[in-house]
Amino acid sequence: MKLQFFGAARTVTGSKHLITTQRGTRILLDCGLFQGINTDELNQKFHFKPSEVDYLILSHAHIDHAGLIPRLVRKGFTGPIYCTPATADLCRIMLLDSAYIQEKDLKRINDRRERQGRPVLEMLYEAADVEQALSQMKTVDYGQTFRLNQDEVSVLFTDTAHILGSAAVSLTVQEDSREVRLFFSGDIGRPHDKILKMPEPFPQADYIICESTYGDKLHEPEPDMRKHLLRIVHETCVVRQGKLIIPAFAVDRTQELIYALDQLESDGKLPRIDVFIDSPLAVKATQVMKKHDECFNPELRAYIEKDGDAFAFSNLHYISDVEDSKAINERQEPCIIISASGMAEAGRIKHHIRNTVEDARNTILLVGYCGPETLGGALKRGDREVKIFGETYTVRAEVEVMDSFSAHGDYAEMLDFLSCQNPAQVKQVYLVHGEYDRQVVFRHNLQSAGFRNVYIPSLYESVAL
Ligand SMILES: [Zn+2]
Repeated sequence: MKLQFFGAARTVTGSKHLITTQRGTRILLDCGLFQGINTDELNQKFHFKPSEVDYLILSHAHIDHAGLIPRLVRKGFTGPIYCTPATADLCRIMLLDSAYIQEKDLKRINDRRERQGRPVLEMLYEAADVEQALSQMKTVDYGQTFRLNQDEVSVLFTDTAHILGSAAVSLTVQEDSREVRLFFSGDIGRPHDKILKMPEPFPQADYIICESTYGDKLHEPEPDMRKHLLRIVHETCVVRQGKLIIPAFAVDRTQELIYALDQLESDGKLPRIDVFIDSPLAVKATQVMKKHDECFNPELRAYIEKDGDAFAFSNLHYISDVEDSKAINERQEPCIIISASGMAEAGRIKHHIRNTVEDARNTILLVGYCGPETLGGALKRGDREVKIFGETYTVRAEVEVMDSFSAHGDYAEMLDFLSCQNPAQVKQVYLVHGEYDRQVVFRHNLQSAGFRNVYIPSLYESVAL
């Protein structure tokens, strides 16, 4: 049996791992988009034949895990795509959004390449490819072992509590003389997520492909997030009569904020101000989330039982229409605007920041990871001047950071996640989805926990199992 790493090898994006069994069955784990600087060409070519892949198993809907599925289909993959029901529903909205971004970005990228005298790139995919990919999806719930093919490969999804629908994948492969148990972690979430359940234990494996994003890091102990948020709301909207602008990822992060505000409102603590969710993707993602309460933790279920809806309260407004979004900018009254993208490098949030950043009454609150080259990154760093749509703006608004949100476990939480395993029975751990320096630290941590053989594969490397 052979395992090849076609992405997320010594980096955090482009997750793609191909298994070829002894009998020649080809199973692709994830088909993610490479993201970040200089990845345009990387996403064009697969380095394997999509038409020769028999099955795709998808861990979760994040674009760095699912974002190249429509291209795989466009290039000839006709097999089934297995994922959880929530992942399939999220893929519908996220991949259509991704196709729209691809089409929009391609023109800009190719204009630049033409100026540089480099060959232009072909379209990665379009909406029709997304529709085709969605038609190939087959959903399976957590905890239901299913067969991929006749008496060779069986699969089990277990919850990793990373985002709605996220799953780890346990594969059991029958060979002529042995049975091989392979585990793929996908992305590992954190215990005590505000919305999701706890990460689940999984069956003993012989080989483990494990993420390592925070392999060298321990998260700060979480302060009281609601209290922190309420202080910022009060200082901005009540004391200074300003606007609170929050760039947030449309999926999960936005719903965590809505739920926190909903709870504050229920407790009578939230001032009477309007709250706008200004992102078509976030509006759709909230609908998907409401539909999949099977993924919710007991606290959230109990809250919904009492409150009726954890994502709706009297002053909360969901905005999809562009004209409605523009109208928010005209408002003078204090309000809270939550909008995407999370790093403020694209989307409606850029307009909101442009309109508020030079006024000291306002606050920009950063709640997630921001790449250093993004607008969110510049604000987080404390830059006094920022560029938005080519113009320079002076930062007079307050900039606040809340780091209590993270969808990835730190190394202690990942070791805890792996503690369901007898390390002596694990022949090899392969570290993926992490920067190399962090992976080296995580390898040491795993070895200290008894996992003797830990390997850090490089891109396109092939290993025999
Ligand atoms: Zn993820």
